[in-house]
Amino acid sequence: MKQLLDKSMSRSINSFSFFFLLMLFIVIVYSAYTINEIGRHLHEVVEVDLPLSEVIADAEMLQLKQHLLMEVIRSEGVEFFENDALRKESLDGLNEYNEHFSLLLEKAKGTVQKGLTMRRSEISEADHKELLALIQNLHHDRNHFNELANHFFEQGHKTFISHWQELERKDQELDEQAYQLLKDVNRLTSKVSSEVISQGREFLIVNMVLVVAALFIGLYLAYDILRMFRQKMARVRNHVDLLKRSIEDGGSRSNPKEKRFGESFTDLEEGLKSLVVKHSKKMRDQYELEKELIELATKDKLTGVFNRHKWDEQARQSMNFVKLGHPFSIALIDVDHFKQINDTLGHDIGDLVLQQLATQIEQSISETDMLFRLGGEEFVVLFKDTRVHDAEHAAERLRLLLQDMRHEELPNITVSIGVTEYQDGDELSAIVKRADTLLYQAKNAGRNQLAVG
Ligand code: GH3
Ligand code: MG
Ligand code: MG
Repeated sequence: MKQLLDKSMSRSINSFSFFFLLMLFIVIVYSAYTINEIGRHLHEVVEVDLPLSEVIADAEMLQLKQHLLMEVIRSEGVEFFENDALRKESLDGLNEYNEHFSLLLEKAKGTVQKGLTMRRSEISEADHKELLALIQNLHHDRNHFNELANHFFEQGHKTFISHWQELERKDQELDEQAYQLLKDVNRLTSKVSSEVISQGREFLIVNMVLVVAALFIGLYLAYDILRMFRQKMARVRNHVDLLKRSIEDGGSRSNPKEKRFGESFTDLEEGLKSLVVKHSKKMRDQYELEKELIELATKDKLTGVFNRHKWDEQARQSMNFVKLGHPFSIALIDVDHFKQINDTLGHDIGDLVLQQLATQIEQSISETDMLFRLGGEEFVVLFKDTRVHDAEHAAERLRLLLQDMRHEELPNITVSIGVTEYQDGDELSAIVKRADTLLYQAKNAGRNQLAVG
């Protein structure tokens, strides 16, 4: 029951996380889209709306100036025509205004057309076209006004009354048109800016959603990691419990009812592990056995030093090295009157003496030199890379060492030694024979000494 609950819970958590990630993905895509839109609108504001507002405001200002000029003419009345300087100045002013106006309106037209190519969704094409028509109308009417004003100034004071009213009416109309244009432009630009503001707000909300989502994901991941960790810990604890129980039960049983289908992989893993353990134990045993066999084949049982078999192998190897420029020497060592020790103190003490002697020699020779027991109380030391002269010194040191060897339960001993160097053409038996002869000489000369040859 608990398992079923766990499974359905983990399934619902999985589908929840899938839904959650999907929502997050949608929010991210929407956020990217909004950023792009804001960028586009700001670009349009900079490229179209701001320049257009500026141009139309300039046009309005120009229109105001013209209106002021008209007021001056009106206040002067007929006398205006008698003042040639003022008339000329006014005419020049009007023409200049008109020229400037034409330039501004051309600029406005160009800006609106640019806006049209940008195809803004919130400003319809109709809005643009209406604006364009207004600008063109104003342009046309201004040109007409200018023609009329020029004509009026040329005709002189006679036509003042008849033309003045028409000119004033036209000026009034131009005023209204310019004002209308400014209003329209303001309406359009405020539409864009309010759109940008609302998009900015949306962007803020979307980003807040993203932050919250990131927080949730972080918490969820932390929860998931903790859950996995706890599961793993529980499994390890289970294994330890099982192991403990099986050790308590003598490791003989395992209850199949406790196994679940989901644990089959764990079982397999466990099986493989035990196989590997068994196999490596087998390999270890085999290695130990081989090591033991090698020891048996090469070492002397009583003293633990190399045996006669190993001596043969090593001596032959050294003989091969001689041709490569590595001479060697040997020292054949025999305990003096050993039989007496056996006879008086017993065979066991004799054995202990041999062991003690072997240990002492092994500890004092260098690492490259080797000690062998050839049989009974007879030993041989192989001095590698050593000429007979140096071997003699080394053997003498050994003789003194053994002579001074003291042990409370063992008798003092002395040894006789035959020292010789391998010579070209020597068989193995020949060098041993030579050492044996020298040893015999040492014995005959009174024992506890060396014979070198
Ligand atoms: P020397 O060499 O000075 O002429 O006299 P020796 O008494 O040592 O002469 P010998 O070679 O005749 O005696 C060797 C003795 O070593 C004979 C044998 O009983 C004894 N022996 C041989 N192998 C062992 C062994 O493994 N253990 C013991 N305790 N004695 C051994
Ligand atoms: Mg002896
Ligand atoms: Mg002997």
